[in-house]
Amino acid sequence: MFNFEIISESSDSRARAGVIHTGHGMIETPVFMPVGTLGSVKSLSPEELMEAGAQIILGNTYHLYLRPGTEVIDQFNGLHRFMHWDRPILTDSGGFQVFSLARLAKLSEAGVTFQSHIDGSRHLLTPEKAIEIQICLGSDIMMCLDQCIQYPATREQSLTALETTTQWAQRCKRAWKETNNGSNTLFGIVQGSMFTDLRRQSAEELMSAGFPGYAIGGLSVGEPVEMMLEMADFTLPLLPRDRPRYIMGVGTPENLIELAALGTDMFDCVLPTRNARNGQLFTTNGTINISNSRYKDDSGPVDADCRCYTCRHYSRAYLRHLYMARELLAYRLNTIHNVYHFVNFVKHLRKAILDDTFKSFREDFYRKLEN
Ligand SMILES: [Zn+2]
Repeated sequence: MFNFEIISESSDSRARAGVIHTGHGMIETPVFMPVGTLGSVKSLSPEELMEAGAQIILGNTYHLYLRPGTEVIDQFNGLHRFMHWDRPILTDSGGFQVFSLARLAKLSEAGVTFQSHIDGSRHLLTPEKAIEIQICLGSDIMMCLDQCIQYPATREQSLTALETTTQWAQRCKRAWKETNNGSNTLFGIVQGSMFTDLRRQSAEELMSAGFPGYAIGGLSVGEPVEMMLEMADFTLPLLPRDRPRYIMGVGTPENLIELAALGTDMFDCVLPTRNARNGQLFTTNGTINISNSRYKDDSGPVDADCRCYTCRHYSRAYLRHLYMARELLAYRLNTIHNVYHFVNFVKHLRKAILDDTFKSFREDFYRKLEN
């Protein structure tokens, strides 16, 4: 069922455009995937996501496992029917949240024990369990359990986490192979913090296990943006050309365009949704904060170039009013715009790769930002 093909490659960068085929339809890459942490892209209905052009969304294994729990989602045969979304879903493995959000994460031979951030209950997450949960969720693209560490980390910490990640990836692959019925696929996650030799080691170990797709994790965890780009620039060419490459948890439109230029196919980030709820809106001329008093009587749309529902019908003055009054509609309208902006920005970027005008697209992008 899972298949990836490259349609076109940019002649003046490493950017490429492709198509991923899944059991729930195809995904045109590069693609931006909105994050639906708890089985919902905060404040949006699936219809609104489709109107924004979202082809695939993310679900978070850690969160959904703790609440509502797999026994509930299992009754619906997975997340697609539970949340009324019939396009592809990618799930993370829960590793990132266990090490960043849960309490008392402790590594053992079996996996990692942790305490729920919700009720303090104790759980053991193993590579096999991470696969079992993701299969229960009905994920189209599953991720291996990995150990993501914060920045800065010592070389020793990075190496230890990398070794754990490799062992877990091998166990995840075994568990996936045993249950694989062709309805889902599994990506490995390259770790290695900010050490190029460790990034290389991680990539090589994962490739020798062999995965249908590869992600780069442990970026955008507090390091300077130049360092993030440097690691991506180093690591992406190590990965097989014919497999999708996914950089996890990144980033701003500037990050997306630079990482696409380096050959990234998939992106996810909470930026458009989280920042929408904080009143920050992304436009082709940069970000604006809708609470700013200069928008008090501004009758123009958020972004004159945007065709989203919010920009077609509402003024900045109205959006500012809703936001200042903390009306629930503010969060929805802001999120509709930001998600549309990110999804369509990457769609335009893809079109530029297909037309082989990526270089001028990129120049144009920066020129508009300066306006
Ligand atoms: Zn808009």
